Amino acid sequence: MSDNPIRVVVAGGGTAGWIAATAIARMLGQLVQVTLVESEAIGTVGVGEATIPTARTFHEFLKIDEQSFLKATQATIKLGIAFENWARVGDRYIHSFGSAPLSTWMADFQHFWLQGRAEGHAGPLGDYYPEYKAAEAGRFTRGGEAPLNYAYHLDAGLYAKFLRRIGENDGVKRVEGKIARVEQNAETGDIAALHLEGDICIEGDLFIDCTGFRGLLIEETLKTGYEDWSRWLPTNAALAVQTEAVAEPIPYTRSIAHEAGWQWRIPLQHRVGNGIVFSTDHMEVDAAREKLLSTVEGKPLIEPRLIRYKAGKRRQMWVKNCLSLGLSSGFVEPLESTSIHLFMIGVTRLLQQFPFGGITPEVRERYNRMADNELIRVRDFIILHYKLTERDDSPFWRYCRDMSIPESLAERIALFRETAQAWQAPDDLFRVDSWLQVMIGQRLEPKSWHKQALLMSPGRLQQTLATMRERVAATVAGLPTHQQFIDSYCRADA
Ligand code: FAD
Repeated sequence: MSDNPIRVVVAGGGTAGWIAATAIARMLGQLVQVTLVESEAIGTVGVGEATIPTARTFHEFLKIDEQSFLKATQATIKLGIAFENWARVGDRYIHSFGSAPLSTWMADFQHFWLQGRAEGHAGPLGDYYPEYKAAEAGRFTRGGEAPLNYAYHLDAGLYAKFLRRIGENDGVKRVEGKIARVEQNAETGDIAALHLEGDICIEGDLFIDCTGFRGLLIEETLKTGYEDWSRWLPTNAALAVQTEAVAEPIPYTRSIAHEAGWQWRIPLQHRVGNGIVFSTDHMEVDAAREKLLSTVEGKPLIEPRLIRYKAGKRRQMWVKNCLSLGLSSGFVEPLESTSIHLFMIGVTRLLQQFPFGGITPEVRERYNRMADNELIRVRDFIILHYKLTERDDSPFWRYCRDMSIPESLAERIALFRETAQAWQAPDDLFRVDSWLQVMIGQRLEPKSWHKQALLMSPGRLQQTLATMRERVAATVAGLPTHQQFIDSYCRADA
């Protein structure tokens, strides 16, 4: 590539497209020339309203002001996800974003907690995580001596608009129109230009495919192929509906299992996002719609929208001069709200490895390897929730309980069951605390654990665990409610 600005063309203006365009323009300034094409006639998928804490880091990289973001997107705070009816009907646990307070280089927290529980004095696992207890109590504040780890619930439509304002301000050129044809270089097969209806042609050096499930560039043009993971992740459809808020927003997402999948509740400042995720092999669309509408709490604001998908990923996320981000790169269902993270980390990696010297096979391979490794770990973490069910009340759950799973996950489950060891691999997005909370929450009981706690002086373990619990309870009791926090920090007029 020459010293001229590199022409980056982003195809698609959903959450993925605007995150990519805004981040590249903001971080690379005059080194690039960013054009984004989107079609109002086609529209966006319009869901994707829960994030994980890495969204905060990404915003910090981009110097996005948190208060402006919270106000503009009607966002609320997310401290974790409550899983209801997953292991057994009637069960409930929260996968919180917290870190356990006690661990040594030899043994993580669970080994001490399991010993305390065996001795009959430890409380439930969640009692040791401030984020867990704050979520349950509906309390939150930022900062302080021991800041809570948190993410956001946001309005996806408002978020795209918010990013668009920043992006356009930083030089992103937005072109409205429908891409009718993708032109390839006859010799190299690289994408040369996008031709829009109405005779507009957009040439570029690097193309970012954010066109959603269809993958107009990466799949329809470059035919990279799709790796199907639906045998492990059997849901393949969702219906989404927004409702009026009928209560103060809670600072966590709800994930409520039903006989053929699960339902989400995502509380925003001005409304609630609801959806039902299901397997069409086990539930008719009409039955799912009825279930959704009969269980939402407020008045629906729109008709439920049906979205069909197949869990999996593109065989290669970066092919020739085209990188796919967002739904065009693959989808591992929204159970742990990982999609937005995956394209934030995707664009972060692109910025770190930006191909100023040309797009070589090495550049692509490194990116693809990193993206694949992370996605496979995320996939395993999500399968874990399904596989560890004890539910026997429907064909869907019996399938999940009995299905074979990837070797990488089978090993993790076996190791935890035998030894209580959970670990964070270098490519793991989810930390030990996440694996632990879900495994214990789903009733996976370790047979043994590290015995370092037995080396403590008599009564010391009991006292340490008790002090920790008391500290968590006292901290949470002193916090404002989530609503009070929103009123003082996030209201548009505050
Ligand atoms: P889209 O929103 O589909 O955008 C595609 C863009 O491409 C649009 O602008 C469209 O106009 C444009 N386009 C397409 N074809 C053309 C063409 N020919 N010409 C011009 N423009 C074109 N993620 C999370 O992180 N958290 C969640 O809680 C979460 N929940 C989800 C729930 C469900 C049911 C689903 C399906 C996904 C969820 N996701 C979630 C994922 C999240 O919705 C998506 O990752 C996110 O919305 C990004 O979508 P996108 O930008 O890739 O695609």
